[in-house]
Amino acid sequence: MFILILGPPGSGKGTQGQMLVQRLGVPKIATGDILREAVRTGSRLGREARRYMDTGALVPDNIILDLIKAELGKPGALEGAVLDGFPRTQAQAELVDKVLGERGARLNHVLLLDVAEEELVRRLHGRADIEGRSDDTPAAITARLRTYQRETAPLVAHYAQRGVVHRVPGAGSVEEIAEEIRRLIGR
Ligand code: AMP
Repeated sequence: MFILILGPPGSGKGTQGQMLVQRLGVPKIATGDILREAVRTGSRLGREARRYMDTGALVPDNIILDLIKAELGKPGALEGAVLDGFPRTQAQAELVDKVLGERGARLNHVLLLDVAEEELVRRLHGRADIEGRSDDTPAAITARLRTYQRETAPLVAHYAQRGVVHRVPGAGSVEEIAEEIRRLIGR
């Protein structure tokens, strides 16, 4: 089963994704985590990606498309995966459709984490003090929220046509939201 967790920065994709993979026993693929690890080790990918990440812009598709193809092609991800943080653009969505389609699979569920903007801003500023992410500065937070609205939110329509989108209200505790997800996907 392939599940996409979609939502703006701060909506809880990482947390809910983690709970889902533990329950379903499939890997989580999080492009943000992969990129942060590349920045940490100073690889070529990391050096290229960093300048976009720090400003809150998306890393360009010509870099990300290869990464997505490689990750979805790993043996552990052939039967299913939880996708966290991608696709984030139309081109990425088309690639995911194509790669899964070639193996007779598709995105079974798209979980749209719906959290009010004021709450997102509050969480992201709170997290900045704890995690020390270089893109949790006030300017980068504003930019990331705008980037999401401009480039990623339109994907909801792309998937809604197929009837696979579930809107998950983001108000409530982590456990309540996880329970709602379990109810929506039926496992
Ligand atoms: P995230 O941890 O998912 O919020 O991602 C952190 C940052 O990594 C984003 O603000 C982007 O700069 C970059 N990034 C992560 N995933 C993608 C992606 N699928 N496409 C483009 N940029 C990405």
